[in-house]
Amino acid sequence: MAKYLNYINGKWISASTGRFFNDINPATQEIVGEFPSSGPDDVDEAASAAKKAFASWRKMPAPKRGEILYKAGKLLIERKEELAKTITLEMGKVLTEARGDVQEAIDTAFYCAGEGRRLFGITTPSELANKSAMTVRAPIGVCAVITPWNFPVAIPSWKIFPAILSGNTVVFKSASDTPLCAAEFVKILEESGVPAGVVNLVHGSGSETGNPLIEHKDVNLISFTGSTEVGRNIAASCGKSLKRVSLELGGKNAQIVMDDADMPLAVKAAVWGAFATSGQRCTATSRLILHKDIKKGFLRKFFESVFGLKIGTGLEKGVDMGPLVNEARRKSVAGYVQAGLDEGAELLCGGKSYTKGNCKNGFFFEPTVFDGVTPEMRIAREEIFGPVVSILTVNSLDEAIATANNTSYGLSSSIFTTNINKAFSAIENIDCGIIYVNSSTIGAENHLPFGGYKNSGNGHREAGTAVFDIYTEIKTVYIDYSGALQRAQIDL
Ligand code: NAP
Ligand code: MG
Repeated sequence: MAKYLNYINGKWISASTGRFFNDINPATQEIVGEFPSSGPDDVDEAASAAKKAFASWRKMPAPKRGEILYKAGKLLIERKEELAKTITLEMGKVLTEARGDVQEAIDTAFYCAGEGRRLFGITTPSELANKSAMTVRAPIGVCAVITPWNFPVAIPSWKIFPAILSGNTVVFKSASDTPLCAAEFVKILEESGVPAGVVNLVHGSGSETGNPLIEHKDVNLISFTGSTEVGRNIAASCGKSLKRVSLELGGKNAQIVMDDADMPLAVKAAVWGAFATSGQRCTATSRLILHKDIKKGFLRKFFESVFGLKIGTGLEKGVDMGPLVNEARRKSVAGYVQAGLDEGAELLCGGKSYTKGNCKNGFFFEPTVFDGVTPEMRIAREEIFGPVVSILTVNSLDEAIATANNTSYGLSSSIFTTNINKAFSAIENIDCGIIYVNSSTIGAENHLPFGGYKNSGNGHREAGTAVFDIYTEIKTVYIDYSGALQRAQIDL
C-alpha cells in the first residue's frame, strides 16, 4: 500500500507520530493510500518553516509571485484529467464534475496570477493642501488553511493562491477524506517554483492536527471552509487570540419556482442543484419552494428526471450521481430521512442506501424527495449535505421570499420567474450572499465574491477582489509635503 508524507520546508517527510490513517475510495471501500497522522510537533515544524519563509517571500514583488502562479495554472491544465480521476477516486463525485473542480483551480490560478500586477489600494485627495493620501496592501504572515473534502482541489486553490500571491506563507491541513488531492496540488506548487517553506502540508484529523494549528502562536490568520459547528469553535478560539479568521460554512439553499417560471428549465436546475455531487455542496438546493399553482405540473416533470438519474461509480460513463463521501455521512443522511418521517413529512421517493450492481460496497444513497415539509421541521432547517430535497408550498412571492429567508443560513438561493419585477424583488429581499435568477443555486465563478449571510460565514467573501481583503492588511499612508505641521480637522 502506497504510504504518503507531509511536505514541510520543501521536503516530503514523515510525521513525528509514526502513525498513518487510511484514505478510502467511497465507491468501493478500497484503500487509496496511507497518510501520516500528524501531531502538534509536525504542526510546529510546519508553522516554523512558514514563519521563516515569510521573511523573504514577502519581499518578492507581487508580479513575480504571480508568475509562479501562472506556472501552477499551466501544470494544472496538463494534469487536469489525472487530477480529476484522483478526485473521483478519493471522494466519489462523477468525473465530469471532478474536471470542473480542477477547472476552478485553473481559473483561480490565472485570476490570482493577474492580480499580482494589480493588488490595488486607493489614492484619494487629502482634505489639506500639499498632502497626499493612499492605501497599500501588506501581507499578514502565516496562514492556516483548513479545507473540506467536497471540492478537494478548488477550495485549497481558492485559499492558497490568493494567500501566497499577497505575500503570505501557508500551513495547509488537508481534509482526512481527500489527502491525495491535497498532496497532488502541493506537488504542483512545488514544481511551479514555490520556494521551500512558503506552502507546507500536514495531513491528519481535525482534532489532532487542525486544533494545534489553529492554536499555534506563529499562525496569524485562519482560513476555514467546513461545517458551521467547527467554524464556530474556530471563531471562539480566534476571539481569544484575535487572529484574523475567515469562515465559509454551511447552507440551506432554496430554489423558488414561481407560477410564471420557465418550467422545463426550473426542473432541470432543481435536479442539478439538489443531486449534483450527491447533494454534498455548500450551495446544494436543499429546499424547493414551489408556487401552489405550478406544483403538480412541476413535480410530474421533476420525477421523470429524478427517476432517470443513474447512480454508480464516478468513473463510469453516463453516471449522474456517485456515492456519499463516507459511512458517517451516509448514516447522517439516513438519520435526516428518519427525522423527516418522524416529524410527519411525506417521503415521495428514495430514502435509503443504494446497493444495486457494483454499488454494493460503496456509500451510495438514493435521490430522496420529501413533500409536505413545514419550516419548523429539521429537514427544512438543518443542512443535510446529501441527496435529499424538501418541498415547501407557497401562495405568493412574498411568502416564497419569507420562506427562503426562514433559516439560520444565507449562502445561496435561486428564483425562477419570467417577471422582471419579481426577480428584482427577490434580489432585494432574499438574505443570501448568492442569488441566482433563472438558474440553479450551485455554481460559482472565481472572479466574483463568494460567501454567505448569517451562519454561512463570518462576513468575509472569498474569490473576486474581495478575497484580497482577507489576506492583506491595509496600510493608510499620508504624505505631507507642506513643510509645516498641518493638523487634520483643526487647520481647515
Ligand atoms: P468539517 O467537518 O467542518 O471539516 C472541515 C475541515 O475542518 C476538515 O479539514 C476537518 O478535518 C477540519 N476539522 C474538523 N474538526 C476540526 C477541529 N476541531 N479543528 C480544526 N479543524 C477541524 O466539514 P466537512 O464535513 O468536511 O465538510 C462539509 C461542510 O463544509 C458542510 O457544512 C458544507 O456546507 C461546508 N462547506 C462550505 C463551503 C463554503 O464555501 N461555504 C464549501 C464547501 C463545504 P477532518 O477532515 O480531519 O475532519
Ligand atoms: Mg475518501
